[in-house]
Amino acid sequence: MAIRAIVEYPDPVLLSPGLPVESFDSELESLVRDMFETMYDARGVGLAAQQIGLSLRLFVMDCDGIKLVAANPEIISVAGEQSGEEGCLSVARVPAELKRPERAILRAQDVKGKTFEREESGLAARCFLHETDHCDGKLFIRHLSPLRRDLVLRKFRKLKQSR
Ligand SMILES: [Zn+2]
Repeated sequence: MAIRAIVEYPDPVLLSPGLPVESFDSELESLVRDMFETMYDARGVGLAAQQIGLSLRLFVMDCDGIKLVAANPEIISVAGEQSGEEGCLSVARVPAELKRPERAILRAQDVKGKTFEREESGLAARCFLHETDHCDGKLFIRHLSPLRRDLVLRKFRKLKQSR
């Protein structure tokens, strides 16, 4: 297992949709293990393949007691609304208040290629949405108003300089 380097904004891999996962083999299993290890090391609750520089529709999460691998994820329905803070390992965890649906149904394939659907609410639903967005090449800051996005990016650049 290996901890991979986390790619940060504005790396182009984060800003373009990932390619579909087609091979459910031992290579994918070992990639998933690396992704979990990288996520735990960074104390994150979710990590998409784009965040380690791979253009692939794949994410892992361990959020609110829900641990799963999602290949080729799709959000098939959402309901309600929640407010809360959201951050991203690729934007140095600078938090921003972001409204999201309260519930979401995720359809994806597991590490063996078996399709599943899972409905969650609250934090786990937020994680489904955030990580599926990554697979589509979208960062959470895209959902913010231009003013608030600039504020997050200013804080992010400042943090980057102070490293
Ligand atoms: Zn993220």
